[in-house]
Amino acid sequence: MSQPHVLLLGAPGAGKGTQSKRIVEEYGVDHITTGDALRANKGMDISDLGLEYDTPGAYMDAGELVPDEVVNEIVVTALGEADGFVLDGYPRNLEQAEFLDERTDLDAVLVFDVSEAELVDRLTGRRVCPECGANYHVEFDQPETEGVCDECGADLIQREDDTEETVRERLRVFRENTEPVIEYYRGSDAFAEVDGEGTPDEVWDEVEAAIDERV
Ligand code: AMP
Repeated sequence: MSQPHVLLLGAPGAGKGTQSKRIVEEYGVDHITTGDALRANKGMDISDLGLEYDTPGAYMDAGELVPDEVVNEIVVTALGEADGFVLDGYPRNLEQAEFLDERTDLDAVLVFDVSEAELVDRLTGRRVCPECGANYHVEFDQPETEGVCDECGADLIQREDDTEETVRERLRVFRENTEPVIEYYRGSDAFAEVDGEGTPDEVWDEVEAAIDERV
């Protein structure tokens, strides 16, 4: 049997990254995340495309979407290398959803519901490890030693786009561009809504059940 094709949708901070890691461990699929791919290429010169900014990082630091031609390219390459996958952070607008539709099918499309107040708390308090990608929170999920990654010992950082001003802009961009993507998938057999406000273990129980029902 081929490996599952899973899509996670939800606002920034809804827990897509955390649950993606578990899906990778449980189902042995690839994690395709445009956010990480773009962070690794923030300084890439895209000036020849004649767009508003010359690097992906400039869009990201403003909380805006990186243009589709840059992001679609990343996804095409990653899909070509994956058997099963969990896709996280893409598609973020209807054009990307239609582009994806032409290139692959999806077994499970899971939407994480989390209130805006909770999202702001989660994102502005988030600290990440620049070395291994582990996530922490200044209140809800502290590392053993303040500011130091439990997994690899590196110093934790706050993502440049996790400041309150940029977080508010990212949530506005989500409502405007990505909520229509949720409506685009609603009604398909693959679609399921998950309560994203529980603990990671509670959310995982729902995620695993929803995937197993659909593959
Ligand atoms: P994330 O880590 O998924 O929250 O993504 C961080 C930033 O990367 C976003 O605020 C966007 O600027 C950019 N980004 C990630 N995925 C996409 C996408 N599918 N389309 C456009 N921009 C994206």
